[in-house]
Amino acid sequence: MKIHFLGTAAAEGIPNPHCTCSVCEETRKRGGKNIRSRTSVIFDDELKVDDPPDAFYHAVRDQINFTKLKDLLITHTHGDHFTPQDLLNRIEGFAHGVNAPLHVYGNDLAVQGYRQNIPPDKNRFVYHRVLPFQEIKTQTATITPLLADHDPNETCLLYYIEKDGKQILYGNDTGWFPEATWEWLKGKQLDLAILDCTGGYYKNKRSRNHMCIETVLEVKKVFQEEHIMKENGRIIATHFTHNAGLLHEGFVEAFEPYQIEVAYDGMIINI
Ligand SMILES: [Zn+2]
Ligand SMILES: [Zn+2]
Ligand SMILES: [Zn+2]
Repeated sequence: MKIHFLGTAAAEGIPNPHCTCSVCEETRKRGGKNIRSRTSVIFDDELKVDDPPDAFYHAVRDQINFTKLKDLLITHTHGDHFTPQDLLNRIEGFAHGVNAPLHVYGNDLAVQGYRQNIPPDKNRFVYHRVLPFQEIKTQTATITPLLADHDPNETCLLYYIEKDGKQILYGNDTGWFPEATWEWLKGKQLDLAILDCTGGYYKNKRSRNHMCIETVLEVKKVFQEEHIMKENGRIIATHFTHNAGLLHEGFVEAFEPYQIEVAYDGMIINI
């Protein structure tokens, strides 16, 4: 399975165009893997998680044709993950040669947001409201939404994705997983976990709302103790912010001793 990281930043992106902190200034000088757009991942060019404001940039930069997209999963409705006004460009008259509807999955706020912004057209969009821990079969995978610890005013979701015999945990945005999610994960055998690492060094093993470096390390420890991950399972950190005070190489340095990989924009892996 091909897994393509389209964006790997938190809400502001790196460099934040409105910021002159040392990370943003250094990123402007160095470019490369330091430049991060808002977070999204696409699996086999057909299943995508989240629809950030950089979807246009992702498509142009990595030459992706979103008409091939079959399923779109939305984690929550913060502006760096959810842009219904942008997806409007797929409607009849704006987009041509679209042969099948895009199936969109999300919580009630996400589905409601799409309904309000995009006129109903079953040839272009089919919306599915999903609930935590209730498995669904999509066109491309078997998916179970899990509870995140992120925004107390919204049922923010993570996704457990079973595709082509592989088990993947899509784990952002979230702090330390809620107990119900940990319980559900027990007995699973992950091939890959993609984890939130919005923070740098917080000196907090179980940070709330977003994970930090220490929380990602603690998650890995519990995965090992509870045998939630396969022997050769991989952990990849993503959703970084300039406020962490680290460039790409700083995150690599922090995670390398623990065999945790650091995502960057345009990174493609195969599992
Ligand atoms: Zn976010
Ligand atoms: Zn900055
Ligand atoms: Zn968020």
